[in-house]
Amino acid sequence: MEAAAQQILTVFFVLLVLAFTAAVGWMVFHAPIRRVAAWNQSLRGRFFPAQEYQRQILTRSFDYYRQLNFRDRLRFEQRVRQFLTDKEFISRGELPITDEVKTLVAACAVQLTFGLPPVNLRHFRKIILYPDAYYSTINDNYHQGEVNTAGVIVLSWKHFLQGYRDPSDSRNVGLHEMAHALLIENRTRYNGEYNFLDEKKLADFRAYADLEYQRMQAGKSQLLRDYAQTSPAEFFSVAVEVFFENPESMAVEAPRLYQSLQDLLGQDPRRMQFRRRPDIKGC
Ligand SMILES: [Zn+2]
Repeated sequence: MEAAAQQILTVFFVLLVLAFTAAVGWMVFHAPIRRVAAWNQSLRGRFFPAQEYQRQILTRSFDYYRQLNFRDRLRFEQRVRQFLTDKEFISRGELPITDEVKTLVAACAVQLTFGLPPVNLRHFRKIILYPDAYYSTINDNYHQGEVNTAGVIVLSWKHFLQGYRDPSDSRNVGLHEMAHALLIENRTRYNGEYNFLDEKKLADFRAYADLEYQRMQAGKSQLLRDYAQTSPAEFFSVAVEVFFENPESMAVEAPRLYQSLQDLLGQDPRRMQFRRRPDIKGC
């Protein structure tokens, strides 16, 4: 009996030592591992600069890129290349996955995250593209895009392009889905890309989002379309669309909401002028 009790005590002690070692190990190595992961990511971008064909596609078709200065264009190209290093594109239907498709989807993600430290949305390894809106059995409806927490971004290519063809209608399904992916990535711990959004700035955005939500409910604001009221995540995605496509109106109608998004994303789209429509072959 005494031997059994001693055995249990030994096992308990060993478990305690293991738990303590794991806790200390996490505290000591967590931050350096994240730093090395971020350094590795920026290094990959430096060693794999964009190729000429990507530069041509961006110059021809991506207004945001065209308005950057030389130095920022290089940084944008690196991020596009970086984004594409670990992504698998899957075509559903007849849509060919061309360099143009890949480059523009990557450019959309980079546009959203350009004011942040490099964010690759690493959790989202698969990007599924349909030629047009696709039928979803989940809610018995046609979708233009969606993001799932298993790490998949789904887009209708037709609607993705429409989002950029009219740069001021507050509709951009690419930015909408990337915004969903950004919030999920920010909560995803395993891959080193975690908690990169400033917590205080995120809290500020949520507070002003709440106020805007109340104004919408009271019928006092039509800045965001009704769909924003579906959930906090949808509110963020719809707000991101308006932030990039109608920054002037947003800054006037909901200045604190605009400022909080500007602070959170580290950029001010009012400085950009999205005038030219993308010139994309075959569309
Ligand atoms: Zn959504």
